[in-house]
Amino acid sequence: MGDLHIILTSESAGTRAFTLSLKRLRLTLGGVTALLVLALGFGAFGLNSLSALRERQSRIAALDQQVESLAQENRTFQQTIADLREENATRLADALNALNTRSADMEAVLAQVGVIDPESTGDSSNNTGGPYEPLPLEGIQATLLRADSLLEQTAAVPLGLPFDNAVITSRFGVRKDPFTGRRAYHKGVDLRGEMHAPVHATADGVVVQVGYARRGYGHYVRIAHPDGEETLFGHLAKVSVQVGDTLSRGDVIGQLGNSGRSTGPHLHYEIRRHGEAFDPVAQIWVGEFLNHSRS
Ligand SMILES: [Zn+2]
Repeated sequence: MGDLHIILTSESAGTRAFTLSLKRLRLTLGGVTALLVLALGFGAFGLNSLSALRERQSRIAALDQQVESLAQENRTFQQTIADLREENATRLADALNALNTRSADMEAVLAQVGVIDPESTGDSSNNTGGPYEPLPLEGIQATLLRADSLLEQTAAVPLGLPFDNAVITSRFGVRKDPFTGRRAYHKGVDLRGEMHAPVHATADGVVVQVGYARRGYGHYVRIAHPDGEETLFGHLAKVSVQVGDTLSRGDVIGQLGNSGRSTGPHLHYEIRRHGEAFDPVAQIWVGEFLNHSRS
């Protein structure tokens, strides 16, 4: 293997000669190549890890965004829940206020016709719960107790009409007798209706008398109510209860008819207190008022 002779000339320094063995040159070139390969390899590795880093960063950014949007969604949900809670509380407060108002109306009407004692009713002056003011539990319980007590009281009092679409054709008090034409005392009201229409109890109570009077009430039913009053239903076509039966308001007691001293299909309806009949019209209208105000 030969050597490489290199001669460099310059005007100032004269001539310089180098001798390079080919073997050394090859070694040197090999070393440079290896270094280049290594450098490229490291460079590629560096680039690789850089892009991986960038990818990771963008993934983290995407995750951050996802977390943020989830947090936003969560906030929206929580707001919705809070809104719904407030809406519920408002509705409850509204319902309780309405119940209180209704109770006060009922008490006023019932007290006015003497059906209940105004002293025994709850105080309505402290019902100031606004729509957004949650009522304390005591208030809710008091309201429900008051409504329960009213319902219990009204269930015991004969109220309303004994059958649908009844028309008062003869009032309570002195009237001309339909048979004799003379002045006579009418102890109830006559209610015109269709023959065989179902007749209903006007309050909770117990049947105390079922009878027949050919020259009087015809087929009749007498019911005692918990408030101490009694109701009497006359001229029935058919009686469907027996003495001792316990009734709820609305239970059918028989059918409208024309039995006894009657000039046509109608119901003779009486309310008595301490055995004395009185004009039932106020209690009839109170019942109708409560029925209509309920819906
Ligand atoms: Zn009558």
